[in-house]
Amino acid sequence: MRVRTLAAVLLAGGLALTACGKEGTGTDTGAPAGVFDVAKDVKVEGSPTFEKIKARGSLVVGVKEDQPGLGYKDPTTNKYTGFDIDMAKLIAAQLGFAEDKIQFKTIQSAAREQAIINGDVDYYVGTYSITAARKEKVSFAGPYYIAGQDLLVKKDNTDIKGPDTIKSKKVCSVTGSTPAKLLRDKKLVEPDANVVELQSYSLCVTKLLDGEVDAVSTDDAILKGYAAAEPDKLKVVGQTFSTEKYGIGLPKDDKALRDKVNEILEKSLSDGKWDEIYKNTLGKSGSEGKHPTLEKY
Ligand code: GLU
Repeated sequence: MRVRTLAAVLLAGGLALTACGKEGTGTDTGAPAGVFDVAKDVKVEGSPTFEKIKARGSLVVGVKEDQPGLGYKDPTTNKYTGFDIDMAKLIAAQLGFAEDKIQFKTIQSAAREQAIINGDVDYYVGTYSITAARKEKVSFAGPYYIAGQDLLVKKDNTDIKGPDTIKSKKVCSVTGSTPAKLLRDKKLVEPDANVVELQSYSLCVTKLLDGEVDAVSTDDAILKGYAAAEPDKLKVVGQTFSTEKYGIGLPKDDKALRDKVNEILEKSLSDGKWDEIYKNTLGKSGSEGKHPTLEKY
């Protein structure tokens, strides 16, 4: 029953976003939103991942499936949409692979590093913050977006106003995520048991709607998607308290592919593609569309 409630929320959100997307796609090329020109004869010298992709003739991309506006899988059509999905498609197109050559694979926050290390995905695009600890296991191109940790509460909540008002509250976040770590490291919620960790943010949102937790904490961009899907019941507090730089997760030692993806991201920021993608996806749930500065290494 609870699961069905949230599925309905997300379905409504997904449909709303899709419906809006058809109104004003506004692409310069006249191409439908999310469809990108496919590059020909692409070479990425010295990239073992690219060699593997070429030999396979298709791509496997790790994403999220329950984050409306970012990475969302429509339960009726099984189609993925959102800012992260379009960024993943743009990268694929620039590597020479059309949309029908991409297999999206849902990977939750806690399983990302291992999925990349195992080679289960060629790259990962899913609200994945670049951190020093993660860089010990994987590498990142980007950042392609900058978010900040925030709080999602019920619409009628009046006592949660920011990170210093959640001390005695029950706050839900996701295992293996930077927001869950920050809640604990900075002791924003005490006792520790009041930090409720689940496998996905949509499970947290269900708990919030059911009154089992007082807030959900993660990146504002993610939370705004849930609030936009359920505007009469949920709101984002709007006091961010971290910097989350979203990177494209890549195998650690594949510098050639990292450089290539950075080049693709750089081009998208200067030729208007980034803005076009943003406007058609995240921009619809009220996030700010500020350009990030790439951190190449
Ligand atoms: N950006 C944060 C992270 O990478 C939170 C979102 C997520 O779990 O995907 O941990």
